[in-house]
Amino acid sequence: MDDVTAILDHLNAAQREAVSAPQGNMLVLAGAGSGKTRVLVQRIAWLIQAEGLSPYAVLAVTFTNKAAREMRTRLEALVGTSLRHVWVGTFHSIAHRLLRTHWQDARLPQHFQIIDSDDQLRLIKRLIRENDIDDERFPPRQVQSFISGCKEEGLRPHQVNVHGDAYLGQMVELFDRYQLTCERGGLVDFGELLLRSLELLRDNPALLAHYQQRFAHVLVDEFQDTNTLQYAWLKLLTGMTTPMTVVGDDDQSIYGWRGARVENIRRFEREFPQTKTVRLEQNYRSTSAILEAANALISHNAERMGKTLWTAGERGEPISVYSGFNDLDEARFIVDTLRERVEEGVNRREIAILYRSNAQSRVIEETLIRQGVPYRIYGGHRFYERLEIKNALAYLRLLLNRDDDASLERVINVPARGIGTRTVELLRQRAREGSVSLWQALHDGLVDGALKGRAGTALQAFADLIDTLDNDGAGLALHEIIDHVIARTGLLEHHRNERGEKGQARVENLEELVTAARAFTQGDAFDAPEAGEGATALEAFLSEAALNAGEHEADEFEDSVQLMTLHSAKGLEFPVVFIAGVEEGLFPHRMSAEEPGRLEEERRLCYVGLTRAMRKLYLTHAEIRRLHGKETFQRASRFLREIPEEYLEEVRLRGQVSRPVTASRPTGLRQSGVNGGDDLPSLSLGQRVSHPVFGEGVILNAEGEGPRARVQVSFAGEGDKWLVLGFAKLTPL
Ligand code: ATP
Ligand code: MG
Repeated sequence: MDDVTAILDHLNAAQREAVSAPQGNMLVLAGAGSGKTRVLVQRIAWLIQAEGLSPYAVLAVTFTNKAAREMRTRLEALVGTSLRHVWVGTFHSIAHRLLRTHWQDARLPQHFQIIDSDDQLRLIKRLIRENDIDDERFPPRQVQSFISGCKEEGLRPHQVNVHGDAYLGQMVELFDRYQLTCERGGLVDFGELLLRSLELLRDNPALLAHYQQRFAHVLVDEFQDTNTLQYAWLKLLTGMTTPMTVVGDDDQSIYGWRGARVENIRRFEREFPQTKTVRLEQNYRSTSAILEAANALISHNAERMGKTLWTAGERGEPISVYSGFNDLDEARFIVDTLRERVEEGVNRREIAILYRSNAQSRVIEETLIRQGVPYRIYGGHRFYERLEIKNALAYLRLLLNRDDDASLERVINVPARGIGTRTVELLRQRAREGSVSLWQALHDGLVDGALKGRAGTALQAFADLIDTLDNDGAGLALHEIIDHVIARTGLLEHHRNERGEKGQARVENLEELVTAARAFTQGDAFDAPEAGEGATALEAFLSEAALNAGEHEADEFEDSVQLMTLHSAKGLEFPVVFIAGVEEGLFPHRMSAEEPGRLEEERRLCYVGLTRAMRKLYLTHAEIRRLHGKETFQRASRFLREIPEEYLEEVRLRGQVSRPVTASRPTGLRQSGVNGGDDLPSLSLGQRVSHPVFGEGVILNAEGEGPRARVQVSFAGEGDKWLVLGFAKLTPL
C-alpha cells in the first residue's frame, strides 16, 4: 500500500482528489501550469496500482509524439516497470496502430503508406493539372484544406451537401478523385487515419466490442483541441460507458483554424454520464509577474469559461520588452542575452525561443549559427521533410508498393536519367485512360510498345532498378537496405556532386537516415508498436517517419537552445522564454486581426506563449522587418499593451547597433586566395563607402564578426545589397 499513497505525495488537495477519484467520467478544467498533465500521469499510475487495472487496459491520448514519449517515461518512473504495452500516443498514432492491425477489415492494402500534408498537396496539384481545372479558382491549398476539413467533420465526398452550388460541386468532385487516387495507391493521409479507424470500429461490431472490453479507462490530455471527428471517435470507442478522464483548458484552445472545437469540453460534461468536474487553481510553473501578466492578457477575451489561477511563487523579475530597430537587431538581442544567461549558469536546453510563424526562425537561426550557439528546432525544418530525405523515402516506398504514384513521380527522374516531362505526361495519360497506377501504365506501355525509343529504354532501366533494389533487399537489415538504396539509386552521388555546403548537408542528411534506421531497429528511437506484427521493419520505419515528421531532430543529448513555433510549444515549459516578433500583423497574425473570433484565438496563443515561461520572459519586436522580400515598418503588438505596465520593463538599446563593425583578419579567406590578405577596413553604420562595381553607398546594417561579417549597403541606383566584408572590397569614403 505504501507505493499507492506515494503516488499522491506532492499533490495539492484538488489534484489528489482528481488522481484518486473512483473510476467514472471526469473533466479536469484548469489554467496553464496547474498540473493537468501531471494529474493525468499520476492518475494512470493510480489506476494501475490502486485500482488494479492492467496496463494493457489503459489508453492515453496526448497531443504530440514527444508528449507521449515523456508520459511513458514519467509513468515508468512512477510504476517502476516497463510499460511498453500501455497505449500512449497521439490520435494519429493510435488510429494508425488500429489500421495496421486490422488492415483487411479497414479495406486497406497491407502495405498502405501514410502521406503527410506535403505529399497530399503534390497529389492535389497533379489532379488539378490532369483534369484541366483552373488552379486560380481552385488553389491547391484551398482544395487541400477543404478535403481535410471534410474529413475532420467525418464527411466522405457523397455526404457533402452541395446545395446545388457549382463551385462546391467541383470541390467535391476533386475530393472524390483525390480519394480514388489514394485508394488506388494505398495512400492514407492524416485525416484519413482517423476517419478510417472510426469507420473500422463503427462497421465492425465485433471489433468494437473487443476494444471496448479491452480498454477499461481512456484518458485525454489537451482536450480543448480535439475536433469533431476525434470527439466522435472517443464516443464510439468508449461507448460512453468506459470511464474517461479528460483534461483541458479553454483558454489554450489554439487549433480552431484546424477544426478543433473548444465546445467539446462543455459537450463532454453534458453528454458523458455523471461527469465529475475538478478545477485546479494553483499554478506551479511561473513567477507571479509572469502569471499575472498572462491572466491580465487573457482577460481581454470575451468567450471564456472562467477560471482562477494563482501562484504561491515569488514575484520574480519583470518581463523584459526589447524593441529592435530591425529583425537582425532583434535576433542579435535574443542571442546576446541568452548567451549572458548561459554564462550565468542556465543550461541552453532551459531556454526557448518562440515565434508565431515558421519563417521567423531563419534570421534567428543564422544569428545562432554565427555565434556558434547550438540549437534545435521542433517543427519547421523537419528532417523528414527535407528534399533529399523525401526522395530516399519515396524510393523505399516504391519497394513496398509500386502503385504509390506520388512516390513514383517524385523519383522517376531523380537523379536525372533521361525521363523527361513529356514521357511522364504520357505515362499519366495512359494511367488515367486505363484507370491504373503509373507503374502499371509503365509496364503495359513497355509491353505493348507504346513506350519505346530512348524514353522506353530509360523507363525500362528505372523499372529494373526498382525491382533489383527490391531483390537486393532480401535478407538485409533495415539500415543496410537504406544504405544500399541511397547508393545504388545514385542519390548520394548526385548530392555529392552538388557544390557547396548545401550538397554536403544533403549527403549528411542521407547518411543520417541510415543512422536513424539503425537506431529504429535497435528500438530506442521510436516506441515500436506491437501493431507492427507482420509488417516489415521498413514499413514500420516509413510509417514512423511520416508520423514523426517535424517532431524532433538533431542530437537529443547536446545541450541546445530550443526553437519552435508557439503552437508547438503547447504543454511544454522552460525556465527562460523569448517570444520574438510581438508585432501587429505578425502576432496577432494579419489574417486574424480583423475577425473577432480569430483574434481571440491569437490571444489564447499568446497566453500559451507567456505561460510557457517559468522564471524569465522576454518579449521582443522589431521596428523594421523584411517580410516577403520587402522591408516594412512594424508596430508593437496590441498584446503588449494589454499587459499592465507594472509587469513590464523596457530594455534600453545597449549600443551594439552603433558599435563599429570590424572584420578581423580573415584567415579562411586568405587561404583560399580570395582576399589579398590585407587587413579589412573598420566600418560603422551610416558610413559612406565605395564599391568597385556598385559605386557609392551607405552602410545600413551589419552582422557578424570576422571573415564572415556581412554588411548591408544601400547603393544609389543599385538598391540594397548584402555583402560579405571579406569579399566585397569596400573602401570607406
Ligand atoms: P499546461 O496547461 O501548460 O499543459 P499543465 O496544467 O498540464 O500545464 P503541468 O505541466 O502538469 O501543468 O505542470 C506544470 C508544472 O508544475 C510542472 O513542472 C509540474 O511538475 C509542476 N507541478 C504540478 N503540480 C505540482 C505540485 N502539486 N507541486 C509541485 N509542482 C507541481
Ligand atoms: Mg499540460
